Amino acid sequence: MRFALLEGDRVEASPKLRATCPGCGAEVIAKCGKHVSWHWSHLSRELCDPWWETESEWHRNWKNRFPITWQEVRCQNTRTGEWHIADVKTPSGLVIEFQRSSIHPDEIQLREDFHRSLIWIVDGCKNDFDRFNFSNMLSRPNEDGIAHFNWFGRSTLFKRWHTTKPVFIDFGPEHGFWRVLRFDLSSKRGMAGIVNIDSFVQLACSGTTDFSSVGGPATE
Ligand SMILES: [Zn+2]
Repeated sequence: MRFALLEGDRVEASPKLRATCPGCGAEVIAKCGKHVSWHWSHLSRELCDPWWETESEWHRNWKNRFPITWQEVRCQNTRTGEWHIADVKTPSGLVIEFQRSSIHPDEIQLREDFHRSLIWIVDGCKNDFDRFNFSNMLSRPNEDGIAHFNWFGRSTLFKRWHTTKPVFIDFGPEHGFWRVLRFDLSSKRGMAGIVNIDSFVQLACSGTTDFSSVGGPATE
């Protein structure tokens, strides 16, 4: 994680520093190496957030599009006491999760139940296959940036992300940032809309929490 607590302040890792995890309250130590961006590391992650994913440059670049006070926000259900750290939570309560590793559909469901307004941003560049495949199968986008695609092959990208909350897939600068508007599990046909990242960030920062009107993968 990028931020830990030191005497009540959120601080970034710097050499030899120790601080407290804002989630579980355990001691964390600064990891300040040459190859990975500086971060905080637990001595033991056992009691911390099981949903937390090791942070990559991709995560960090995305989070940095938002103010730092919105990054890594502890969210707690006051009734059950369950807590998790959201990658980004806007002041109006919109949670944005950046997901690189694949997670089980049951876990996707748990997270969707926990966070009321949630949108997913999925790294579509984990393998070359998905983004080239997507680009090759895509029709020419219409004037609203909407295109149709036929998915085939063994990749389960769109099947895994056939969820009830809005899903955006980041296929990188060359292949674009897309919102999945529709995906039919049996025919493997789908519809996606190309999204300008800056406009997306502006919209997410504007106080909107409802992205449902523009569709979603499970929309009929
Ligand atoms: Zn922790």
